[in-house]
Amino acid sequence: MRGEAKLRDHAVVLGAGIAGLVAATVLAERFALVTVVERDQLPDSPIDRRGVPQGRHLHSLLSRGSQILEELHPGFLADLVEAGALILDDPDMHRIHSRVGPYTFNRTHSAADPTALVTYLASRPFLEFHLRRRVEALPNVAFLDGHDVGELFSTQPHRITGVTISPRDSTSSETLSTDLIIDATGRATRTPLLLDRLGFPPPAEHTFTADGRYYSQQIEIPDQDSFRERLILVLPEGKAQRGGLMACENNTWTLTIAGRASDLTHTPTDFADMLTLAGDFIPPHIQPALHSAQPLTEVQTYRYPGGTWRRYDRLARHPDGLLVLGDALCSLDPINGQGMTMATLHGTTLRAHLSRTGRVDPQAFYTAIAAITKPVWASNAQQPSGRGNKSSSPLSLRAFAWTRRKILESAADDMMITERLMRVANFIDPPQRLIAPGFLARVAAHHIKRGLTGRSNTPAAKH
Ligand SMILES: Cc1cc2nc3c(=O)[nH]c(=O)nc-3n(C[C@H](O)[C@H](O)[C@H](O)COP(=O)(O)OP(=O)(O)OC[C@H]3O[C@@H](n4cnc5c(N)ncnc54)[C@H](O)[C@@H]3O)c2cc1C
Repeated sequence: MRGEAKLRDHAVVLGAGIAGLVAATVLAERFALVTVVERDQLPDSPIDRRGVPQGRHLHSLLSRGSQILEELHPGFLADLVEAGALILDDPDMHRIHSRVGPYTFNRTHSAADPTALVTYLASRPFLEFHLRRRVEALPNVAFLDGHDVGELFSTQPHRITGVTISPRDSTSSETLSTDLIIDATGRATRTPLLLDRLGFPPPAEHTFTADGRYYSQQIEIPDQDSFRERLILVLPEGKAQRGGLMACENNTWTLTIAGRASDLTHTPTDFADMLTLAGDFIPPHIQPALHSAQPLTEVQTYRYPGGTWRRYDRLARHPDGLLVLGDALCSLDPINGQGMTMATLHGTTLRAHLSRTGRVDPQAFYTAIAAITKPVWASNAQQPSGRGNKSSSPLSLRAFAWTRRKILESAADDMMITERLMRVANFIDPPQRLIAPGFLARVAAHHIKRGLTGRSNTPAAKH
């Protein structure tokens, strides 16, 4: 698409996180100049930065997310691996250990389409750094880092025409006039407030409360070859410990303990505490190697109050010249590892929108985004209420939870069911594939067979 006639002169992207970088890539195909404004001084190496505090915690990228990054930047994934990221492409997915509630997954056969589920492992700073390198190389993208976003302004009726920005180390400010502003400033977005100040209605907000806590440490595991798993994600039900262990670039690992504040038995402050809590969910055969690991960082903490979906799609009146995407539009429960992939989907939605309409129609864009967000939001919003509040769940939610449990139980024995679950979890297939009649019939057949043989899918049965 590069080389086609440009839509307009100048687009401005606020925020250089994953959503901002993806948006800048897409806009560079259509605008003569794209300016990315970022509060942080952007580092010239893959290190943590203040504006992305969540980057110190386990960040796994779903398969669909990596596919989109490759579509936008051909050769990106090979470069990532060349720079030290890990690729998990085994047909039987043996290097991934995932447990949901008490249920583990079948690994006795190969997946029918393993290429769809290839997973790339790298820390968030590493992934973002390499993506930024690609975006910086685009000839019509400029980065203004070390600049804070101030006010939106409007010099035409019904249109945002610019934004004020100020260098972080100065009280001066300047204005950027633009044809389109993309807000990708993440959870701290100020767009609802700024719209209100300009007399535009702010969006309604849907929220759920999670009261989550994340504790993470980067570690080295000298004995890492004593086990084959490279991505371990455990999401038990109820109050049990949740968390993960993920291999990252260049033989480093991230160990994350996650949970609701009220569920954590104690607050980890050092590696010994982290090991105690990890003892609840890391498979026993990995424990000896984990106990010989060396911490590379202090324990990092992140408080996560809950999720917010700002319903721009439901606004009666949109200003032209402004779109919101990424976490600024919808932030999810991080434990599901969907946020970065949602940001890439927002980018491809924007790309399709611009290519189809040749102009920016906020209502059409937000309607398309809402269609993608709805099922993901629904499953996120159900989880906290599912924990510890089962009696008040409506019938439809209990029916959903029951079906999900039956599917997860069957996945222990059946690679086809495991693969279908993984495809949906990785956003390769839509969630409706889990309620397709043929699929549910296969699940039912398993339960009948299991009822006859008396077998069950429990961690004890599958380690
Ligand atoms: C603890 C935790 C763990 C997570 N784990 C995963 C995971 O495993 N997998 C996954 O896919 N997702 C995960 N996520 C979600 C993921 O981090 C985000 O969804 C994803 O990064 C997309 O975010 P974004 O680009 O919209 O915003 P961000 O990544 O937050 O980026 C926003 C950018 O805007 C800049 N900015 C903010 N305000 C201003 C301003 N006023 N002026 C200028 N710049 C500004 C910030 O400095 C930052 O660079 C996790 C989130 C958390 C909190």
